[in-house]
Amino acid sequence: MFVAITRFTFILAFAVLLYGVTHSILGNWLAFGISLSILALPLAYFYIQSARLKKYLQADEVENLPPAFGYLEDVFFRLQRAALTTKKRIVDVERQHQRFIEAFQASPNGIVMLDNQDQIEWCNSIAERFFGLSFKRDALQRINYILRNPDFVQYLSLRRFEEPLLIEKMGPGSNMSLLLQIFPFAENHRLLLAQDVTDLRKAEAMRRDFVANVSHEMRTPLTVMMGFLETVQSLDLEPQQEKEYFELMMLQGHRMKSLVEDLLILANLESNALPALTNQIAVFGSVFAYLRGDAEALSQGRHTFHFECNASVGLLGDEQEILSAFGNLISNAIRYTPDGGEITVQWDRNAKGQGVFSVRDTGPGISAEHLPRLTERFYRVDRSRSRDTGGTGLGLAIVKHIASRHQAQLQIESSVGIGSQFSLVFPVERNAEVIPSGQ
Ligand code: ADP
Repeated sequence: MFVAITRFTFILAFAVLLYGVTHSILGNWLAFGISLSILALPLAYFYIQSARLKKYLQADEVENLPPAFGYLEDVFFRLQRAALTTKKRIVDVERQHQRFIEAFQASPNGIVMLDNQDQIEWCNSIAERFFGLSFKRDALQRINYILRNPDFVQYLSLRRFEEPLLIEKMGPGSNMSLLLQIFPFAENHRLLLAQDVTDLRKAEAMRRDFVANVSHEMRTPLTVMMGFLETVQSLDLEPQQEKEYFELMMLQGHRMKSLVEDLLILANLESNALPALTNQIAVFGSVFAYLRGDAEALSQGRHTFHFECNASVGLLGDEQEILSAFGNLISNAIRYTPDGGEITVQWDRNAKGQGVFSVRDTGPGISAEHLPRLTERFYRVDRSRSRDTGGTGLGLAIVKHIASRHQAQLQIESSVGIGSQFSLVFPVERNAEVIPSGQ
């Protein structure tokens, strides 16, 4: 300010001095004219610079500062610096805002921001999917006009947000279970968080069913056994009759033992590390020899077996698990195929180069509607037949588990009255090249 006044005073003094010196030589009017021109010069300078400044501000190109000199050079420079700082701050804030949006979008949970009227201020794409919302269409709509689930409407109106709200079915035709919770923030704003708990709820239901099934499976042989024990205890039985009762009790004991063993196998499969890709399994050697021995012992000459093994196809995985999976498929074929039936066990490579283990039988076959559920724990086509054959209902669940641990596919083909074929198809990554001995 001081500099500006000094400069203006200097120019004014110069003009007056010029008039004083020149008016006696040039005459009054000319001297006055020249002095006035001297005063008009800075005015013109200010007008021109103001016009440039206006253009500069209108163009919104902070970097292209118009040339200036003298007093205004500094003003222009400071103005540009202030504009640059503000611009940078805006860019920073925008970037931060964008990062927040991206973080909210990356969240696996649905997020809806509500204002003090419960109107949608913003929502991420997961929330759009969960609630069938469209932010473009539904922005500033009240959330309870869109989520009309009665439990949610009540939750919103009661304003007791300390507890989350579980909604089993978000809308007609939806099987999604959502856990919703509202968190107040800022002045009367609210954040609605939605978590998809469908899988969690399914897993909980499966666990409940599993415990109920195991209890039921254990209770049946236990009840039978206790009935026999009471009879033996209370009646005076003939030694032969007593022997028969003990044999029947032993059978029930074996059933419980098999069930517990299969449950332990499943528990171990769930807790063990995945089988390494480096363990080579001698399918042609020990595995097939073991399978054949077990099959013949279980069948006791009631079936005809064909064991066909391509000696050059090796497998990478866990030998115990593979033995258990292959053994389960063979034992099923033996247990369900009537006496005199044929069972073919094969290990070979298919056209895609994948190792395939298959068991084909001439048993009763399975009708198509049962096939998708066969690997469920305790699922049986014919419950009493499975029990008669000593089945626990867990065999195929174990096979499926072992298959998935080896990234293999369990394929089932069956025709009622003709027979079934169960195949395990291993990925080529699990192939092991076997060099035939003697080379
Ligand atoms: P289980 O111990 O009852 O045999 P699994 O899980 O091994 O249990 O098999 C499930 C069901 O699949 C069996 O109860 C049976 O109904 C059917 N099943 C399995 N293998 C065969 C087969 N080779 N032939 C006919 N049915 C079979």
